[in-house]
Amino acid sequence: MDNCIFCKIINKEIPAEIIYETEKAIAVLDIHPCARGHTMVLPLTHVETLVELPDNEIEFVFKAVKKVIEILQKSFEPEGFTIGINQKEAAGQAIKHLHIHIIPRWKNDGGGSIHSVVHNPPKESIQEIRNIILNNIKEI
Ligand code: ZN
Repeated sequence: MDNCIFCKIINKEIPAEIIYETEKAIAVLDIHPCARGHTMVLPLTHVETLVELPDNEIEFVFKAVKKVIEILQKSFEPEGFTIGINQKEAAGQAIKHLHIHIIPRWKNDGGGSIHSVVHNPPKESIQEIRNIILNNIKEI
């Protein structure tokens, strides 16, 4: 896509610190790293969200995520990882090209778990939430 900074990185039109590449995905260091080795895996196909990524590409993107975790483990010996996607603006997605963040973590690094991203619990019970979901599965 013309105005997408990640497509420009993929097409080598602008520089980036690429650490891993396959035929379907590329891994680049985040220019605003949250931690040492903070990397993003991007599908070569321009899509905004995981839902739009063709099914036959998902496997290759997540294989790249796995490989990058192994690379970062060997490089920096972190004690854990936070792996995540900010999907859509409300969740903090800044670039509208799907990317999976891989953030190396250490004990006492000052960060939190996925549960610390937001605190907006539902008013309904989890059983009611389950029923809403199950009623909607039929329509997908
Ligand atoms: Zn793009």
